[in-house]
Amino acid sequence: MSPSPLAIQPADVLAAAQRLRGVAHRTPVLRSRTADARSGATLFFKAENQQRMGAFKFRGGYNALAQFTPEQRRAGALAFSSGNHAQAVALAGRLLDIPTVIVMPHDAPAAKLAATREYQAGQAGSEVVLYDRYTEDRDAIGQRLATERGMTLIPPFDHPHVMAGQGTAALELIDEVGALDALLVCVGGGGLISGCATIAKAMLPDVRVIGVEPEAGNDTQLSLARGEIVTIPVPRTIADGAMSPASGQLTFPVIQALVERIVTVSDAQLVETMRFFAERLKQVVEPTGCLAAAAALNPGLAGLPDLRGARVGVIVSGGNVDLPRFAEYLAR
Ligand SMILES: *Cc1c(COP(=O)(O)O)cnc(C)c1O
Repeated sequence: MSPSPLAIQPADVLAAAQRLRGVAHRTPVLRSRTADARSGATLFFKAENQQRMGAFKFRGGYNALAQFTPEQRRAGALAFSSGNHAQAVALAGRLLDIPTVIVMPHDAPAAKLAATREYQAGQAGSEVVLYDRYTEDRDAIGQRLATERGMTLIPPFDHPHVMAGQGTAALELIDEVGALDALLVCVGGGGLISGCATIAKAMLPDVRVIGVEPEAGNDTQLSLARGEIVTIPVPRTIADGAMSPASGQLTFPVIQALVERIVTVSDAQLVETMRFFAERLKQVVEPTGCLAAAAALNPGLAGLPDLRGARVGVIVSGGNVDLPRFAEYLAR
């Protein structure tokens, strides 16, 4: 039996880049002599914390909604998320004039709720639907909305258009800095790394793509070792964007085919990296956004190849963190 084809191809990422041209920010690539000295490598930080709505998720969300048929546009998009995907879909819907319903737990961070509602403000048919995560079934609520209103569900990572959109971050990075020996990318459900690996390996066949997960949430590392998707209990980590208990049915085969390995970092290393970004690069980066950089800045990490002398791309995935909490982390 031949393996089924991968969910996305390099051409899908190139097509996504066309759709995003002039809409998504072409985020800057940051350099730091201190970081280079510490890692022994030459590091190129792709600052997706400066992307619209504060994370790379805008790329995938917009790429998905931009491909809706006229009927899908009229009925609108539906997303479940308490995090960056919610804001990404809400903003993409606003820009494309597509109504959005975002299903969020009633105890989602107030700042995220407010930001999502702000993107939807004044748009007919757009709303946040709150549910009680302890007594109500989120999937049932979503199913009902999708059936009643004919809305199209856009998942946060396991969708070809989402995966392809996320890959444009790596495309821009390689466009700007040229050849890389390695690319470090954080892994939650695997949308970002599957898109980035697809385009990076096409442009630079020898590039080593390495995923980074939180120590407590190493489901993809386990899955690669076992050769099938492993589901773990919802991990306890400050990297709230990487709390997915399993990688996706579409993302995992891409990871298996193109990602060399996955390494893990501790919450303490994430905090240290947040401090590094704030102090040295004057960047606000959320804990999940620090995963890949934390690996680069800790060259002794178990399983991490020797990157001394290498040119290494590092995706800094997002910057949405509650400021009081951010201050608390830095004060530790
Ligand atoms: C969603 C998210 C991730 C994880 O991305 P996946 O595509 O699920 O692997 C990482 N960082 C940030 C900031 C995110 O919002």
